[in-house]
Amino acid sequence: MSQFLRPALSALDPYVPGEQPQDKSYIKLNTNENPYPPAPGVLDAITREAVSQLKLYSDPTIAPLKAAIAQQYGLQPENVFVTNGSDETLGFSFLAYADAEHPVTIPDISYGFYKVFAQLFQVAPTVIPLREDFSLPVEKFCGVDSMVVFANPNAPTAIALPLSEVEKIVASNPDHVVLVDEAYVDFGGESAVSLIDRYPNLLVVRTFSKSRSLAGARIGYAMAQPALIDDLERVRNSFHPYNINRLSMLAGVEAMKDTAYFEDCCQKIIKTRRHTAEALKDMGFTLTESATNFLFAAPNVISGKEYYEKLKDRGVLVRYFGTQRLSPYVRITIGTEEEMAVLLEKTREILKEANP
Ligand code: PMP
Repeated sequence: MSQFLRPALSALDPYVPGEQPQDKSYIKLNTNENPYPPAPGVLDAITREAVSQLKLYSDPTIAPLKAAIAQQYGLQPENVFVTNGSDETLGFSFLAYADAEHPVTIPDISYGFYKVFAQLFQVAPTVIPLREDFSLPVEKFCGVDSMVVFANPNAPTAIALPLSEVEKIVASNPDHVVLVDEAYVDFGGESAVSLIDRYPNLLVVRTFSKSRSLAGARIGYAMAQPALIDDLERVRNSFHPYNINRLSMLAGVEAMKDTAYFEDCCQKIIKTRRHTAEALKDMGFTLTESATNFLFAAPNVISGKEYYEKLKDRGVLVRYFGTQRLSPYVRITIGTEEEMAVLLEKTREILKEANP
């Protein structure tokens, strides 16, 4: 750190992304990527001609991608906002709606970036603890005098909230934006998109990183009534109007159009999730009910840390968080059937070693 950095930033705890090892090859189940490649149309869209066009700036209106997203969800392009990953949507939303005088309410266990953005933008967050079983205490998010941000389904707990509960939170906070982060909704959650018509304060945030197999293309988006989208466009255009590069725009359009491929990938992941969860339960693991592309799992006979380390030694990478309530658990991304068979085989080995 230099002597020049603003004090507010020197006190910041930046987000720590999951390990992205570039040296050794692991079975990588630690950052909730999709194990299947992007839709075939994506591969065809990235032509030599498309690459040669990188000499030109990208389209700052992001119109083709907004149109593709709007069409998919029965909305208008005016209802859609697009960013470089959904982290950027989250950041722009904090910038738009929260500051020292405009606080935010978030769950204590959720996506780590919410606390980081609160710090970055000097917002004092009201942090509401999840219940003992990791479910969201809905009543504590109702009628709060602030912006509300939560993930549904939640991460890393994998638990989904029914739409009727989400609606209670949105309806009871009419004077504040309620941001529902639906990064994982395609794997079994109920989306709040159908509520957008009725609630001017609802902001639904999504990503292409998980269910659309495009984590490396960095595309996130939000859906809401046009007034909220206008707010976010003001922020984007005051920060980085060319935030979607040309190749990602082409990739995003193709990935959004190919509904059959998307549904097939999601179904495969849901099926593999079921097999894996059953096998881990049979081995004595505690698991939450997952509506996501990952499992939140405690081996019980050994700590979460030991399990993570022993899997890593055996070439399987999962995510360990290590904070107090999460320390018995790891988060395991659902890979292919073959990858999960290896995870299960290594897990049996580890448990046998711990309990010969
Ligand atoms: N929200 C949640 C709940 C997440 O887990 C993630 C992935 N780390 C994101 C948002 C951000 O995803 P991305 O920036 O890749 O769209």
